[in-house]
Amino acid sequence: MINKDHPRYQSLLYREKIVEAHKNGILADSGMIAHGRGETFDYLIGEKTTDNSKNTIEVAACYFLTRKRPVLSVNGNTTALVSEDIAELSKKLDIPVEINLYYRTPERIKNIEAVYEKLGVKEILGTDDDDFIDTPDLNGPRSPVSIEGINKADLIFIPLEDGDRAEKLAALKKDIVNVDLNPLSRTAITSTVTIVDNIVRAMPLLIEYVNKYSECDKDILLEKIKNYDNRKNLDNAIHDIIKRFE
Ligand code: ATP
Ligand code: MG
Repeated sequence: MINKDHPRYQSLLYREKIVEAHKNGILADSGMIAHGRGETFDYLIGEKTTDNSKNTIEVAACYFLTRKRPVLSVNGNTTALVSEDIAELSKKLDIPVEINLYYRTPERIKNIEAVYEKLGVKEILGTDDDDFIDTPDLNGPRSPVSIEGINKADLIFIPLEDGDRAEKLAALKKDIVNVDLNPLSRTAITSTVTIVDNIVRAMPLLIEYVNKYSECDKDILLEKIKNYDNRKNLDNAIHDIIKRFE
């Protein structure tokens, strides 16, 4: 039981969720370490969504609303922290959730599938019943992607993703939106849009912007996309961290 007065209450609460997901067979051992790396960067950005990241989340919403076939690629960490938000976004946009795991086991796939089934997600891809094709030049169990999902998608959401996979998906000339607290990671650098924020704060805001712009003229959304520069976004994120040391 975490004391609510603890200054790191929120952070400890999410740590508890991570531990629970590990116990429930959703998160691999290394997922706990990845979370720790995220915590470090969250500490550095001040554990709040910066103005720069709010703007990036707005642009990410514009991408979701202007692309034909977006897919939400989820792993253990994303599921542990924001499965409800993922389900909400999937339902709102009527887009599939595709499970992709670095350390894929049939049990973990089943456990994650059960989470999204319970939350009412209609199309869950990447399960063992799916038809797969390999991601070019990517080895290991995370290489196969669903033929109906990521393979055909024009926009892939890959929060908390490893750089290898991000690079290979970006090489397919699909738009990539990701959430990564580390603005220096390869995932951050190779994506089309990198939201440098904690996924627990970014997802509700993303949903808010999707709601806000869902009836908006497409040309206005495309104009916001045109004016966006991911390199500049990452520079801003790095400068926001540097400012905290001054
Ligand atoms: P890369 O492989 O892209 O160069 P990496 O090896 O650091 O970087 P991984 O550990 O493979 O990346 O992937 C996890 C990434 O997710 C880390 O960059 C980490 O900062 C980030 N991360 C972890 N937890 C969160 C979170 N709650 N919100 C946002 N990002 C997170
Ligand atoms: Mg990595």
